[in-house]
Amino acid sequence: MPASVAIIGAGIAGCALAEALAAAGHQVALFDPAPGSGASGNAWALLHVPTGAGLDTRLQRAAAESAQRHLRQLDLKPGVEMWVEDERIAAVVPAAVHTRLLQRAGPRLQHIASSVQHIRRVGAQWCVSFDGGAQQRLVEQVVLANALQAAQLWPVLADCLRAVRGQVDQFQTSTAQPPGVRRGAAGYAISAVPGQWLVGASFQPDRMDLQCDAADCLANGARLRGLLALDPQAALQHLGGRTSLRAVTPDRRPLIGAAPAALGGWTRDGWPLPEPGLWVNAGHGAHGFSSAFLAAELLTALVSDQALTLEARLQDALRPTRFGRR
Ligand SMILES: Cc1cc2nc3c(=O)[nH]c(=O)nc-3n(C[C@H](O)[C@H](O)[C@H](O)COP(=O)(O)OP(=O)(O)OC[C@H]3O[C@@H](n4cnc5c(N)ncnc54)[C@H](O)[C@@H]3O)c2cc1C
Repeated sequence: MPASVAIIGAGIAGCALAEALAAAGHQVALFDPAPGSGASGNAWALLHVPTGAGLDTRLQRAAAESAQRHLRQLDLKPGVEMWVEDERIAAVVPAAVHTRLLQRAGPRLQHIASSVQHIRRVGAQWCVSFDGGAQQRLVEQVVLANALQAAQLWPVLADCLRAVRGQVDQFQTSTAQPPGVRRGAAGYAISAVPGQWLVGASFQPDRMDLQCDAADCLANGARLRGLLALDPQAALQHLGGRTSLRAVTPDRRPLIGAAPAALGGWTRDGWPLPEPGLWVNAGHGAHGFSSAFLAAELLTALVSDQALTLEARLQDALRPTRFGRR
């Protein structure tokens, strides 16, 4: 049965989900006063398919493979909006990804350029208050895709989401390295224009300010010299920087699935009870351009009450109710 769904937040998590829900026949209202203004708003984003057998690596691989499948369908312009280095490493222009996703969602999607003030249950529905509380919309289901701010609308999530500030910088090198994507233990560098590189990213837990930082800029310059094997003294011209906040969970896995109930209560196994009709799509940490597509697949199946395609153990590792066991 098609449902009316409010998605709060139009970063990569909200946009990928809006496209998937609309494709499944649902009516989607996507709320965001400034789409792409959060962590999803960098000039480029790296995608990486990890190898290995541990649970987290398998999760990240399932996410990266889902992203590869979906991104292929977006007809991103090679070398301009998407750079494929090899079968495991690629980069995309987030703004182009968001635009294509929202275009593909078509007439079942309505974008409401407003911030949501609060949500509350009204019988079997949800009332979403927006526009400074002046307007309200009744929907059957709500998805919190607004990163750290999810905890402002649903306070029981406060213990599961923490801010980790990060900065990327753009530099012009004096030597003309061929464009491409470089990835190392310390970070990544992406270039589609000879000599111009986006490099990042710093990782500063619990810092919330969004001013670009000179120390981060120096560290990103050093990162770039390392990734390109440049002389440590090689001149770099700084073209600009951008700072934003990652929403990170205690186990670094995203929160994808039913929200924990507001009034507490536990299942027979001692897990927090889920809140009917309220979903979370947040905590994408440092890999949102991979995990948002897996999240979109999973949440579309859950909202549509359909069988899930992901292995049960992996899905369980993403449950927003996995914290706070009795
Ligand atoms: C410096 C840095 C570099 C990164 N590099 C990469 C990378 O290369 N590859 C990668 O995969 N990931 C990367 N990440 C991580 C990635 O950016 C995030 O995981 C991803 O952007 C999270 O997407 P999101 O949609 O959950 O959140 P966001 O992009 O933060 O979007 C949240 C949205 O919610 C909206 N919102 C908030 N509150 C409300 C409200 N009350 N009502 C309506 N709307 C609201 C905001 O306006 C915002 O648009 C990086 C992160 C940082 C900080």
